[in-house]
Amino acid sequence: MMGYGGHHPGQPSMAEALTAAIESLLIEKGLISSDAIDAVVEKYERDIGPLNGARVVARAWVDPEYKSRLLTDATSAIAELGIKGMQGEHMVVVENTPEVHNLVVCTLCSCYPWPVLGLPPNWYKTPAYRSRAVSDPRGLLREFGLELDENVQIRVWDSSAEIRYMVLPERPAGTEGMTEEELASLVTRDAMIGVAKVRPPKKS
Ligand code: FE
Repeated sequence: MMGYGGHHPGQPSMAEALTAAIESLLIEKGLISSDAIDAVVEKYERDIGPLNGARVVARAWVDPEYKSRLLTDATSAIAELGIKGMQGEHMVVVENTPEVHNLVVCTLCSCYPWPVLGLPPNWYKTPAYRSRAVSDPRGLLREFGLELDENVQIRVWDSSAEIRYMVLPERPAGTEGMTEEELASLVTRDAMIGVAKVRPPKKS
C-alpha cells in the first residue's frame, strides 16, 4: 500500500494526486472555481496551519515544563493542545538560542509538519532551497534577510517521511508583559522553519 508523505521525488504524493483529482472534478462540474480553491489552500498555508505552531511556541515560552516536554517528546506535547494529524505523527522540535540557530529542510522532496505549519510554501519545495540549506545555510538565510553573527552555529535538520522538524524560535525581548495569545500572534511560519526570527512587537 502506498503511504502518505513518503519520499517520492519527481512524483506527486498520494495526497497531492487526490487533491488534484478532486479539484478538477469540482471545476468540471461547475461546483467551484479554481480561484476559490486557491483561496482555501492559501488560507491553510498562511493561517490555519502556522497558527497551530504559533500556539505551541507561545505555550513553550510561558510554561517551562511544557517547553521541556516539547523538546523531549514533541508529538505528545503538541497533541496536548489538541493538535495532531497526518504528516505530524513523529514531530521533533529544536530550540533556537543565542548560540545556535536551527533550520529545517527536506532535501529529498518537501516533507513538512502539516498539523503545526499547514502546507509548505512554494520556496520550501524548490531545488535551490533544498540544496543550499545544506551547502550554504548562512548565505541562504542572508537572502531571507536573516544575517546571523559569525559565532552563531547553524544546525540544519532534514525532514523526512519518518520525522518532521519544527523550530522553537527565541522569545524576543520586550515581550515580558504579553499574554500567551499576544505572543502567539508574533510567531510566523518562517520563524518556525528557521528562515527568520520572531520580531519584537512594534512600539505603539
Ligand atoms: Fe520529503
